[in-house]
Amino acid sequence: MNITICEFMDGKSVDTLRQRFDVTYDATLVDRPQDLARALAGADALVVRNRTQVNDALLAAAPQLRVVGRLGVGLDNIDVAACEARGIDVIPATGANALAVAEYVIATSMMLLRGAYLSSAAVAAGQWPRPQLSEGRETAGKTLGLVGFGGIGRLTAQLAQALGMRVLAYDPMLDAGVDVWRATGASCSSLDDLLRAADVVSLHVPLTASTRNLMDDSRIGLMKQGAVLVNTARGGIVDESALARALREGRLAGAALDVFEREPVPAGSNLADVPNLVLTPHIGGVTRESNERVSAMIAERVARRLLGPTTNEERPWQHVA
Ligand code: NAD
Repeated sequence: MNITICEFMDGKSVDTLRQRFDVTYDATLVDRPQDLARALAGADALVVRNRTQVNDALLAAAPQLRVVGRLGVGLDNIDVAACEARGIDVIPATGANALAVAEYVIATSMMLLRGAYLSSAAVAAGQWPRPQLSEGRETAGKTLGLVGFGGIGRLTAQLAQALGMRVLAYDPMLDAGVDVWRATGASCSSLDDLLRAADVVSLHVPLTASTRNLMDDSRIGLMKQGAVLVNTARGGIVDESALARALREGRLAGAALDVFEREPVPAGSNLADVPNLVLTPHIGGVTRESNERVSAMIAERVARRLLGPTTNEERPWQHVA
């Protein structure tokens, strides 16, 4: 059975799959659509990250395909309905990169609330901006507002509570009566109340029709003076122009964006030279450790799907951490 892997996968997991399968691994295949189509002609499984567009045209080139493994969580690049229609399972690495994202949220929140870590150039150049940087805030006692309270939101809540933060969350799929609230210690909130109360607002929702442009001018306007916004979820959820205005006008104290309306961000973007804005190139979920966890999880699940249930002894990939 052939497994074609067309984007980067951790070497240990690729080797584990090679023990049982014919593996075609080339992380540059994603950029060579004709070669990818040729490889897919005999593929039983395909493993992708977020760049491969798994659409009708790609599926038509893969008549034997039974499973698509996604080295990550979001399925925006995969036409799940088209896969379902062909009986192809789509398997995301749910949870495997959640800790990396949650730590990103905590790190950027602490950095932006304190406001003191973006002055290296000024200090090295002989300036001494001590008065301006003496108004930083501590994290303990502040309120974190989580928009979307699934896997990553809940893990972020746990880390934030350990730092002494109060946590509010808004998630329309979880009504006030469900056990999640008692189990996590977070308080169920409406979106508007959360935006008005939170010192840090962090987004953890999928990009859907109901979340597109969720943080528009008016919702950013509801946020507390001096609050911080973090988006590790998906581009298109935050109106980038409205956010840039709020930061330039000093209404928000800072923001961190890991995901963007267009990726890569085009040169000349209106996010250039915006004060107190941390920009990262969609790496919130990507660390050495999470890469290993994500790859091991997908190797195990794709193999299990191809082989069906077997004993643990026959599944060495289950023992990869
Ligand atoms: P999840 O499915 O566990 O949780 C998402 C939650 O959002 C669910 O509880 C759902 O009920 C809720 N939700 C849906 N629509 C909503 C709405 N309109 N308003 C409020 N809540 C709503 O997902 P997760 O694993 O926690 O991931 C959250 C987001 O993080 C996803 O968009 C994912 O793509 C993104 N992500 C980004 C990175 C990165 O590298 N930056 C890595 C992993 C995940």
